[in-house]
Amino acid sequence: MALNTCPDCGNQVSSEATNCPNCGKPLNKPFEAPEAKQESNNEPPPKTWLIESILTTIFCCLPFGIVGIIYAAKVESSWYAGRKEIALNASKSAKTWTLVALFSGITAVVLYIILVVIIGLGAASMNY
Ligand SMILES: [Zn+2]
Repeated sequence: MALNTCPDCGNQVSSEATNCPNCGKPLNKPFEAPEAKQESNNEPPPKTWLIESILTTIFCCLPFGIVGIIYAAKVESSWYAGRKEIALNASKSAKTWTLVALFSGITAVVLYIILVVIIGLGAASMNY
């Protein structure tokens, strides 16, 4: 364990301590600060929902998914053009339309299964 010298009182302090035990001065950990600054400068765009909207379009074959893709494509282009508010709104719209497409697809599949079961039961009862 290394020892640092407190800049205020000259006390020998462990390099792992965040405060000087003698005078209470906060001791800087220089290797932590620059990393945190870089992250805030390079802010990532909001969620685009592009993959989700493409998948729902492929598997559900619904026009709602295409609307989701249009909004998803708008998210990143608006974000890097500096229009953060438009990008955030497009992200919300992409999410809404992707979920609408997804639930429409699920409803269609469930209705199809119910229909098949009803027809299947009808055909089975006709045999007896
Ligand atoms: Zn001190």
